[in-house]
Amino acid sequence: MRRAYLKAPYKVEIRNEAIGEPGAFEAQVRVMACGVCGSDVNDAETREEFAPFGHELAGIVEKVGSAVTNVKPGDRVAMESSGFCRCCSNCRNGHTELCTDKICPPFTGFTDRMNVNARVLVPIGSLSFEEASLIEPMGVAMDLVNVADIRLNDHVVVFGAGPIGLMAIRLAKLKGAGKITVCVRSHSEKRIELAKFYGATDIVFTDRCDVKEAFKGQSVERILVTAPPAVLSDAVDIASFGCKISVIGIARKPEDSMITLDINKMHFNRLELRFSHATPALFFPLCRDLIANGLMDVKPLITHRFTIDEMDQAMKLLEHDHSTTGKVLMIADGKEQ
Ligand SMILES: [Zn+2]
Ligand SMILES: [Zn+2]
Repeated sequence: MRRAYLKAPYKVEIRNEAIGEPGAFEAQVRVMACGVCGSDVNDAETREEFAPFGHELAGIVEKVGSAVTNVKPGDRVAMESSGFCRCCSNCRNGHTELCTDKICPPFTGFTDRMNVNARVLVPIGSLSFEEASLIEPMGVAMDLVNVADIRLNDHVVVFGAGPIGLMAIRLAKLKGAGKITVCVRSHSEKRIELAKFYGATDIVFTDRCDVKEAFKGQSVERILVTAPPAVLSDAVDIASFGCKISVIGIARKPEDSMITLDINKMHFNRLELRFSHATPALFFPLCRDLIANGLMDVKPLITHRFTIDEMDQAMKLLEHDHSTTGKVLMIADGKEQ
């Protein structure tokens, strides 16, 4: 069976490997769809040695170990990119989101098959595998939006319009946001179109104007940041009194991780800076159901599909094309042995 390996700069190698039988608590999953995450793109820029990648996947359970009770062969499932353990003190005290002993499946989703701890597998019902592969990043967007605690009619500003930002726009709308302004660079044509589709009412082109000027006279109650940390200082500048700023967005380079913020503005404006980090991965059933009942249409997000043998093309596309890509997927080609 085939498995894709990745290293910088954007190099992909497909290796043929044998796969063992699943362990007692594991299931063997045939991967039917797997999305490329922003963190995979980070790895494509920085990773020094070849390693497998991919964690946004859906597939079919083919075999289960002797102790597995929650799934069976033939089940259609999505994989939580990390699960809570149920045994640590935080889990037992009702704070599964703070689990200190997470179940971490291997991030080897760009493959024909993989063995994973069955606890992280969630049934997907009638969703297509493509749609189900979007549950994981949607859970990330869900955490970001929950952290922001959006109220009815809030003006919500979203920085960044990658797949997480786009789904966050839609979730903010479902939570009752009034105006939703998206701050994005003007070359991201596809993403601008999708932002409008998901409910953005206003667009600010961050490369064409001064962001602070663009929001002059407007009240901004909530801010969702899905862009590199440098935009945080703009977020603090435009935030209204009592604004909550919810952030997900890692720095690609260590030097970009250090930023300067105006603490007086934050103090006198009573701002709340809150970080989202959706691990363990929660909300899979909720995200699945929102997709199934049509409240979140993830299909328009999927802009490109590749087979495993074409994963080098997929990563090359993400290296060079920032205007037409939404979610890039690997889909099963039926050639797996
Ligand atoms: Zn991811
Ligand atoms: Zn735990």
